[in-house]
Amino acid sequence: MNQASSTPRALRCNIAIIGCRNAGKSSLLNAIVKENTAIVSDTAGTTTDAVSKPYELLPLGAVTFYDTAGLDDEGQIGKLRVNATKKILLRADLAVLVCQTKGLNSTDKETVALLQSLQIPFIIAFNQADVCTPKEDDLAFCAQNNIKFVSVSALKNDNIEDLKQLIVEIAPQEFKDEQKLAGDLINPKDTVVMVTPIDLSAPKGRLILPQVQILREILDSNAAAIALKESELQQVLSNQKEKPALVITDSQVVKKVAAIVPPEIPLTAFSILFARAKGDLKTMVEGARKIDNLKDGAKILIAEACSHHVAGDDIGKVKIPQWLQKYCGKNLVFSFCQGNDFPDNLEEYDLVIHCGACMLNRIEMKRRINECVRRRVAITNYGVAIAKTQGVLERVVKPFNL
Ligand code: SF4
Repeated sequence: MNQASSTPRALRCNIAIIGCRNAGKSSLLNAIVKENTAIVSDTAGTTTDAVSKPYELLPLGAVTFYDTAGLDDEGQIGKLRVNATKKILLRADLAVLVCQTKGLNSTDKETVALLQSLQIPFIIAFNQADVCTPKEDDLAFCAQNNIKFVSVSALKNDNIEDLKQLIVEIAPQEFKDEQKLAGDLINPKDTVVMVTPIDLSAPKGRLILPQVQILREILDSNAAAIALKESELQQVLSNQKEKPALVITDSQVVKKVAAIVPPEIPLTAFSILFARAKGDLKTMVEGARKIDNLKDGAKILIAEACSHHVAGDDIGKVKIPQWLQKYCGKNLVFSFCQGNDFPDNLEEYDLVIHCGACMLNRIEMKRRINECVRRRVAITNYGVAIAKTQGVLERVVKPFNL
């Protein structure tokens, strides 16, 4: 497996290649990755579902290109394809709008407006540079709207390197900065204890991605990691000559762990670290504090960023609703969504409780948070909400002065 395809999806920059049918999107993707990933045909509308291609785009690192269906597709099925492309845009970190020889048409200009409203950085690629040059009007449009553009030929491979350079240039800073989960809290030679319960919902034979990523950061910090189940915590802490610099626990046992770890040892949770790395711990903590104001009939949306097998005591479907009802003593109404279907009707909810979002990158998660903030809907995440319902929220956010 190459590095681009083995990098977790949440760490990759998602790049949507969009435009009208037959603008040459698929040929352009093939020219960028230098292989026949996308089906190329002269027949308009060959790409019906988005084709994804992981790629190592240096110096940016691992990215995923999405070759999408034409935004000018027609008919009932065509409209469904256009909607599918627009959904890809909601997950895109940047876009390449591919334009055909006739120049920018009304659909392209609507797409520019859409990209601007979604605040997605983008480039216009004027394709077929081997047969025509961009029109004066289109160059003026780019200048007026401060849009970067490049003239390329997917067929002749002309200026493909310039296009790649422009992509790197406009990529959000988040992908250029190194994002720390716990590394900034740890010094060389520290000992960090990771409490990882192995229950029915734990995957067989492995740790989950958040645990693996944090373990790697501890090792990168030249510190030592002790991974244990909550049943061994008391004994291991008693055997340590020096106090650990930090204890990180799975949220599901946070109450039990908080009772064992002495108050002078900093304690937090994996999901608190992820909430911080994904963009906005402060908003998540404020959202959790609003749990105290929920009334009978309050509507709660439990949102998960990916689909997975639901175990009997599933955290999102079963445990969080139970803990929340018990904490509030109210009759709450729960709805659930999974994967890319983050709903449009957010205003109907009093609180959104989002999963740890380990499969989303920071920008995708921030987009969801911002959408809630914009519509004045409180949002928190699993770990922060659980800490609140278990009465230990203030303890686990203390390392971040919140
Ligand atoms: S539901 Fe959320 S936290 Fe769980 S694996 Fe999927 S993205 Fe990660």
